[in-house]
Amino acid sequence: MTIDVARARRETPGCGHVLHFNNAGAALMPQPVLDATVDYLKLEAEIGGYEAAAREAAAVERVYGAAAELLGCAPDEIAFVETATRAWDMAFYALPFAPGDRMLTARAEYASNVVALLQAARRTGAVVEVIPSDETGQVSVSSLAEMIDERVKLIAITHVPTNGGLVNPAAEIGAIARAAGITYLLDACQSAGQMPIDVGAIGCDILSTASRKYLRGPRGAGMLYIRRELCQRLEPPFLDNHAATWVSPDRYEIRDDARRFENWETNFAGKVGLGVALDYALGWGLGPIWERVQGLAGLLREELTKIPGITVRDLGAEKCGIVTFTVNGVAAGNMQRRLAAQAMNVTVSSVASTRFDMEARELAELVRASLHYYNDEAEIARFCAAVRAVAAS
Ligand SMILES: *Cc1c(COP(=O)(O)O)cnc(C)c1O
Repeated sequence: MTIDVARARRETPGCGHVLHFNNAGAALMPQPVLDATVDYLKLEAEIGGYEAAAREAAAVERVYGAAAELLGCAPDEIAFVETATRAWDMAFYALPFAPGDRMLTARAEYASNVVALLQAARRTGAVVEVIPSDETGQVSVSSLAEMIDERVKLIAITHVPTNGGLVNPAAEIGAIARAAGITYLLDACQSAGQMPIDVGAIGCDILSTASRKYLRGPRGAGMLYIRRELCQRLEPPFLDNHAATWVSPDRYEIRDDARRFENWETNFAGKVGLGVALDYALGWGLGPIWERVQGLAGLLREELTKIPGITVRDLGAEKCGIVTFTVNGVAAGNMQRRLAAQAMNVTVSSVASTRFDMEARELAELVRASLHYYNDEAEIARFCAAVRAVAAS
């Protein structure tokens, strides 16, 4: 099965306006996602917010089943929250740490996660340690194996870093975590929606992801997967009257499922929109999406390498849809602005997003071009011509 690119582009209204290589920032929503989200908001305006939720209960509920299909888990292991970071936080801040406990993370870990790790370290006396990368740039599985001892209480890894093509060996890391009985938290913010993900095969206990990125859903939405047995042992850092029920004047009962990590109030239109986005991705198939994304990104890297002054900076044994590069004598922000003036969207990845990795590579900033399956070869050619012109100017 291959992607019908003409249909994918037809169903993406943004394709008529921009060359969008910022899918790792926020992908263009397809028409069905846009319609579902807008229609839901309109219904709220017409009949009332609570009444809309009651009438559209099945559409609101669909996000759990669709997420479970995407990730290979059960619907009761999914929580819907406002961002990927909050999903990650809700699980992370529920984990207990004691002085001397070790929290292992990857070199390309995302800033928000590292800030939380550092805060927990400061509060509890646990320590944050960075697993070395191997010669390809991915997490070194053998180094990780050597670091394991009874003081390691958490392995927190980003599957696909925000600043490059790298795909970390999530399942090999999972095998080590499982064998040692260590909690494994996977940030799948950039991988979900671009490649097949099966939490059972990966062996992670917790996974977080965003709606707006490769899943093509609306902004202000994210989700958390948490393995059932772990979920029932963890008390969320915040509880409200959705996460728990006030059963007698001095007692409450926390609900059993992953929704103990949710808020009572939420973005219902976003929830419906994410459900449709998940079904839309499943409709194309994550296998065909992944094949197309890798093919396009491989072509872009190859073409960029031919341009004088451009250095492609992607690491990893296996690469994904995120392509990063630097330009001799041209600041990343300047390249971004010059491309934006021609309706071409990229973004800048700066050192503060992935400081361990950027400092190790002595990089301050990168231009990031992130491709999705609805992008095409003609766009890559136009993009490279524009980059070539800016690099030569
Ligand atoms: C974007 C990103 C996040 C943060 O997601 P939000 O939805 O902005 O909270 C976390 N991790 C990685 C790797 C990301 O790229």
